Amino acid sequence: MSLGCGWHHDENPSREPVAPFFVPLDPAKLDEALTAQANARHEVFRRRVEAPITEHYATTHPGLEPGDVRPGS
Ligand SMILES: [Zn+2]
Repeated sequence: MSLGCGWHHDENPSREPVAPFFVPLDPAKLDEALTAQANARHEVFRRRVEAPITEHYATTHPGLEPGDVRPGS
């Protein structure tokens, strides 16, 4: 992940611990269960990536928020 100022955050999505997955007895609920697990993993990933970005903005670009005009532009 790269920001306009050259700072970047290296992320390895595969280091995500894989939670046990329970296959529902009802096959009709399998899609739902898979989607729920994918959403949960994405949420953990998002939070972990957001933290260093927020920290970087707080220390290097005070007053800016991620999503504001790119620093230096
Ligand atoms: Zn920066």
